[in-house]
Amino acid sequence: MKLNDLNKEYDLIVAGGGITGAGVFYEAAKKGFKVLLVEANDFAWGTSSRSSKMVHGGLRYLKQGKFLLTKTAVKERERLLKLYPGLVTPLNFIMPVYNNYGPSKSSMKIGLSIYSFMAKEKQHKTYTKDEAFEKVPALRDENLVSAVGFKDAQVDDARLVLRIIQQGCRCGGTAMNYTKVVGFQRNRKGHLAAVNMSDEKGSLCVETKTKVLINATGAYAEQLHPSPMKGFHIRPLRGSHLVFPKSVFPLDRVVSFIHPKDLRPVFLFPWEGSVFLGTTDVDHDQSLKMEPFMRMKEADYLMEGLNYILPDLNLSLNDCVSSLAGVRPVLSKKKKAASKESREHVIWKDKGLITVTGGKLTTFRILANDALKAAKSYLPEPVSQSGETKNNNIIYNKELHISKEMKKRVLGRYGRHKFQIIQQYDEHLFKPIENTNTLWAEIRYAAEHENIVHLSDLLLRRVRIGLLLPGGGRDLLDQVETLCKPHLSWTNKKWEAEKKAYKILWETVYSPPNKRKGALI
Ligand SMILES: Cc1cc2nc3c(=O)[nH]c(=O)nc-3n(C[C@H](O)[C@H](O)[C@H](O)COP(=O)(O)OP(=O)(O)OC[C@H]3O[C@@H](n4cnc5c(N)ncnc54)[C@H](O)[C@@H]3O)c2cc1C
Repeated sequence: MKLNDLNKEYDLIVAGGGITGAGVFYEAAKKGFKVLLVEANDFAWGTSSRSSKMVHGGLRYLKQGKFLLTKTAVKERERLLKLYPGLVTPLNFIMPVYNNYGPSKSSMKIGLSIYSFMAKEKQHKTYTKDEAFEKVPALRDENLVSAVGFKDAQVDDARLVLRIIQQGCRCGGTAMNYTKVVGFQRNRKGHLAAVNMSDEKGSLCVETKTKVLINATGAYAEQLHPSPMKGFHIRPLRGSHLVFPKSVFPLDRVVSFIHPKDLRPVFLFPWEGSVFLGTTDVDHDQSLKMEPFMRMKEADYLMEGLNYILPDLNLSLNDCVSSLAGVRPVLSKKKKAASKESREHVIWKDKGLITVTGGKLTTFRILANDALKAAKSYLPEPVSQSGETKNNNIIYNKELHISKEMKKRVLGRYGRHKFQIIQQYDEHLFKPIENTNTLWAEIRYAAEHENIVHLSDLLLRRVRIGLLLPGGGRDLLDQVETLCKPHLSWTNKKWEAEKKAYKILWETVYSPPNKRKGALI
């Protein structure tokens, strides 16, 4: 769809195609509203593809006494596990307990008992020192007393955004990537009346009527809606991760540990066949116009923590394949240390302009419904409650000879309906790409059906091999081109330009910081 093809009027327009905008879009479409979502870059381009990929209650919020926040998040975690099996998957955590620093065994036990109580089943246990070594053989021995284990869940964050947007589209909503809200108009009473949008190059602009604009632009929120709270502004905080190949340290659970330098929690976690280490929490000192990147100082901090907790592994930044940074918008008077700032979401209302920002990936549905509640007096009666359209005419009987795990993966990422389409692909496409869990079929499907505008959309968000393979998978680009060429209407010139741009982007933003040159360190 092109900008010019849009309707002349919508009940509401959502700016921002991260998890928050996606949630608002889906909930609104499900309720029967005529809704348009526009994303300035690619769907999930912002923080929602750069998180720690955890669907969690957030144990540390308990420590801050935020019981309601934790309880809501635990409930949402359980709901997402049920709704999206194969995409949101259970994950075990282990946290070593030391007698010279970090939380004590008894305080951990109290916190975890509350956590289990909220989930309505016992989800934690205590390990002896020997059991802890069995689970994670390389743990630091000195002063280790025991460990605690608990359960949470993880997700492919960008794919969750995609699935929610696709569900919204199946309920009748329209979603466009590379379309930016550049302004809005108000009527004489000051109520929102129209929204101005432009395409990626800014060469085509349209004005579309609507009484509600939901501003779900994350760290960019104040560009559309300056903070109405005196003294409070969005404080962009950067969190970064390093990515290691699984071969360096095979891991079947998250090792959650306390960084010895500042006593912040840090996670080493398995994800998509690799191992991630993160996160940092620092003031974002880069322009919001460019993709955020990890600085060398952050990498050193994470490596210091890792080598403290797993000293015998002797890992260095040279073992790293890539890095990833995301920006968290927190509302702040900038008085506190970054890690002490509240992660709760905020809603601002101004005569049809509703801003929703902050919060967590896990609780996106709560944010979405709060935003819609705030917009209620400006919304018409919805036409009808529209359920998702189901394509019952498609019955494919082909039996795929793929493993149970692969089937689960594809179902989780695409849902039952799409699975039927993918099932028609040749069996040779159901092979994993190199040593990742990603299937070639996923690349083909994305090229055919998932609004790919740039090669980076495909390799960094529809599939994630750009994060998982050395060099962002640059050695596979010709194979990717051969597979996708029949399905993307790109000329040879466009393919060459895209490959070049992807390599430059990867080098400057996603490579490990010790491999970069100049100012980008
Ligand atoms: C390092 C890190 C780790 C995290 N880990 C977790 C975790 O493990 N679990 C968890 O639950 N939460 C986690 N979070 C929090 C979670 O990732 C965020 O709360 C969530 O992704 C925010 O989503 P969003 O849609 O509000 O913002 P974003 O994902 O940033 O989306 C905003 C979008 O708006 C677009 N945009 C900007 N301006 C415009 C415009 N004018 N018009 C149209 N579009 C526009 C941007 O391009 C962007 O894509 C983490 C956050 C960080 C930073």
